[in-house]
Amino acid sequence: MKNVNSIYLSLGNNLPPRKTTIKKCLDGIRQVFPKQFVTSSVYLTAPYLGTHQPFYYNCCVGFVSEIQPHDLLQFCASLEKDLGRVRNGAKWQSRTIDIDILLMGNQCLSSPDLTIPHYDLQARDFVLIPLLELDQNLRNPLSGSSLCDSLKNIPGKNRTYPLRLYQP
Ligand code: ATP
Ligand code: CA
Ligand code: CA
Repeated sequence: MKNVNSIYLSLGNNLPPRKTTIKKCLDGIRQVFPKQFVTSSVYLTAPYLGTHQPFYYNCCVGFVSEIQPHDLLQFCASLEKDLGRVRNGAKWQSRTIDIDILLMGNQCLSSPDLTIPHYDLQARDFVLIPLLELDQNLRNPLSGSSLCDSLKNIPGKNRTYPLRLYQP
């Protein structure tokens, strides 16, 4: 029997047209992964750790699929490219779209190009706030810790400030 997982992705962007690209991205994911597809609200968030950049739009999606981790990574990279993402090698550059794999059921994976759960999931309020809208009971399968608790424990100095914008 194939391994069916509840999969959660994080979307973010800070280059125009932010709202249009987020919507196109949501449509692109839903077309390929329609099973139990859900989206969070979209939030306007300050750049991570005070990086000097335009503000971001962030949201999360969930769906159920049998896709394998590296096939999903390839899908995300291809959709990012279709939506105008250009990589110049530098970390945390402004971008038209970023799609991160947060969780794939209870799978844990550490390879040179893919880490699941996402390595910084528990430290990012702009990821956890939309993610927990989809399921408040989610846990990090690596540590077993509740993601609600992780959100409560994010220290103020690292906090970004999500604002509920609209329902997509
Ligand atoms: P961060 O990963 O800190 O959020 P970023 O999203 O800006 O930063 P990218 O430049 O988009 O970083 O990705 C760098 C690489 O991270 C990708 O090429 C991909 O191979 C790798 N990667 C590792 N784990 C994941 C994951 N869970 N989801 C998406 N990409 C991942
Ligand atoms: Ca990211
Ligand atoms: Ca990424």
